[in-house]
Amino acid sequence: MMLALEMYRSLPRHVAGKAIGGRVPGLLSGYAAPLRLMTIDEPAIDRPGWARLRTRLSGICGSDLGALSGRTSLYFSGVVSMPFVPGHEVVAELLDDCEDLPAGARVVIDPVLTCAARGVDPCEDCVTGATNRCSRITVGGLAPGLQTGFCADTGGGWGEVLTAHRSQLHVVPEGYSDEQAVLTEPMACAVHTALRAGVADNDRVLVSGAGSVGLLTTLALRSLTGAGEITVVAKHGHQRELALQLGATEVVAPDEALRRLRRVTGAFQIKPERSAAYLLGGVDVAVDAVGSKQSLETALHATRAGGRVVLSGMPQAADLSAAWFRELEVVGSYSSAQRETGLDGRSAFEVATELLAGDAVSSLAKTVASYPLHRWREALDHAHGAGRLGTVKVAFDPRSNR
Ligand SMILES: [Zn+2]
Repeated sequence: MMLALEMYRSLPRHVAGKAIGGRVPGLLSGYAAPLRLMTIDEPAIDRPGWARLRTRLSGICGSDLGALSGRTSLYFSGVVSMPFVPGHEVVAELLDDCEDLPAGARVVIDPVLTCAARGVDPCEDCVTGATNRCSRITVGGLAPGLQTGFCADTGGGWGEVLTAHRSQLHVVPEGYSDEQAVLTEPMACAVHTALRAGVADNDRVLVSGAGSVGLLTTLALRSLTGAGEITVVAKHGHQRELALQLGATEVVAPDEALRRLRRVTGAFQIKPERSAAYLLGGVDVAVDAVGSKQSLETALHATRAGGRVVLSGMPQAADLSAAWFRELEVVGSYSSAQRETGLDGRSAFEVATELLAGDAVSSLAKTVASYPLHRWREALDHAHGAGRLGTVKVAFDPRSNR
């Protein structure tokens, strides 16, 4: 038996969460959250290539908060299986030998539950290594689930023990702290986003949002692309400092973003009736690193005609008029691939691990705050207000009883 946080289906709670959870901090972790601390059986998958792991740290992601507050679209209800233990940003140690990896090895998990993990013949995307696009995520030898942390069979990082397949495991190099390692999965997503952005040399880039996604994406854009000026939209003071350290050229507040970009790109600003202002002209590429209506509209409204907008945060409804009128290329960026186009076929995890070795990230890793499972309400409130509270990442440490 083990201790774990479990998310269970409850449509009325989903609706209640939708009405209040996103707006009032505290209520997210209150009665409306469909999460409970349980003593349950350890997950066990008795097939070759699978092993048990003990969680060391597991991050709380914006998509977890979205699911718990009911902001996530019901679109995703078809690719998860309830009840599940959340947690897809995981650093853990192997409890069993797993093929070439010995018990005790410290690893991070690529959470996508691909054809290889499911024990089925590889789909077209898995064959090419675009594993984040796998289309067999509901079939094979596992309950439906797009990732570890959304699947009833595998467990997740918000429990003491989980299971994973060898194809998901990446060894953490010696000398990396757990706090650095727990940033590997979000860093890999940022690497994928930087590649999806299709930045040409000296392109002017906007990153809308400076939470962990926006900050790590800024680092990936600066390290892996020939981006020129990178403007980051940040709400909070400490985000401004971190964004500059990670490669931003300038940082602006949300309400200044359009005015500033109008000036530096020589665009025209249009102020329509009772809706958000927009530019004619603007940046070449924008990344929405939040997924809120406001951050996505900032990205759409600040991009020049024919430019590209990358959806990195899980998006909510927004006005798509600019996408049509300005002929924007709007592209999604979901998770990361085991063989990335544009990285000579290397995995996003491998490149993410290298980027995490840099000095700029060490100050980021120092802000990781961890909680024992039984303080989950505080942890979720902290994650919800992380930007305001000077934290980049909040994580659970299921080994702790503090
Ligand atoms: Zn597949």
